[in-house]
Amino acid sequence: MNPIQVNTPLLKGNELKYLSECINTGWISSEGPFVAAFEENFSTYHNRKHGIAVSNGSAALDIAVKALHIGAGDEVIMPTFTIISPAQSVTAVGAIPVLVDSDQQTWNMDVTQIEAKITAKTKAILVVHIYGLPVDMEPVLQLAKAYNLKVIEDAAEMHGQTYNGKKCGSFGDISIFSFYPNKHITTGEGGMLLTDDDQLAARCKKLRNLCFEPDGPRFVHHELGWNYRMTNMQAALGLAQLEQLEKFISIKRNMGSNYQKALAYLESKEYQLPIPSTSYAENIYWVFGIVAPTENKKQDLIDHLTRYKIGTRPFFWCMHEQPVFKKMKLFGGERYPVAEKLARNGFYLPSGLGLTVDELKTIITCIHEKIV
Ligand SMILES: *Cc1c(COP(=O)(O)O)cnc(C)c1O
Repeated sequence: MNPIQVNTPLLKGNELKYLSECINTGWISSEGPFVAAFEENFSTYHNRKHGIAVSNGSAALDIAVKALHIGAGDEVIMPTFTIISPAQSVTAVGAIPVLVDSDQQTWNMDVTQIEAKITAKTKAILVVHIYGLPVDMEPVLQLAKAYNLKVIEDAAEMHGQTYNGKKCGSFGDISIFSFYPNKHITTGEGGMLLTDDDQLAARCKKLRNLCFEPDGPRFVHHELGWNYRMTNMQAALGLAQLEQLEKFISIKRNMGSNYQKALAYLESKEYQLPIPSTSYAENIYWVFGIVAPTENKKQDLIDHLTRYKIGTRPFFWCMHEQPVFKKMKLFGGERYPVAEKLARNGFYLPSGLGLTVDELKTIITCIHEKIV
């Protein structure tokens, strides 16, 4: 049996055509015309004024934090159950991530826990939409308004998803995306910032480009940034991928509903599946997760799938349990029971756009064999 990868991208649109254009014209760096075209189309798709393309999603978070002047001693409220990138960007400027637990059903940050964490030092709420359903944004936006906080929206896993009919990626003062190959659209490596604020957009562009002063003398710098530029080749892929986003979304939702139907019986055995929808969104199934009743049962199922060369990935590991943050004396003694259980008992099945119908059947058969 051929191995089934946890993710395979789908690159069957205009990717090769646009990429060949880069090679044929010699425009391969960030100066090429696809970068501006991709920024324009991506921001228009999200109804936002500005798009700033960057080298990856983590870079976009670095820029977002610094663009909003978050710095030493400031506090940023975020979920403990997430990839490390948001907490990394916040700690990199000397600010402090302040964590909240996850919601049992959606696996997103529990927005009812945010207000109690707000202090005089709080500067922003950093929401991260997790796995397929968006964070409940309305209460977040209300709190941000009431306490005068910025909202950073990490929509890396939410391309094309909506919250109450409005696109994810249109809620943050700055919203960010990743185009890593397991995201709904990919550029190999890549990321994007979206904002409606002209000044913030200009600041993001400057930070992405070593803080060269757009109007000042060349090579004279007043601030430090990064080289986080996206190449024309990446943008060529992005443009071609964006053309196919609606199709990709339906492929993902179809995959999700097939898994749901075939695996619904697991819920009677105390395995938890993603919920198909909430009052504000339908699951987009960035990945299809399963939370086992115990850590051992999770490992048994992963081992069984591995024997059949079926790839899986564990869920995120909580920020308050990261050795690197313990060394930095962060989060001492804090406990977040819902997130801890997700991290220990959760994993996801192959969920890529390139997953074939036959592969999906094989995976399902394999699970049925293990859990009758
Ligand atoms: C993938 C991802 C990132 C990081 O993006 P990279 O492009 O891999 O740096 C950040 N946040 C979330 C929620 C992600 O899923």
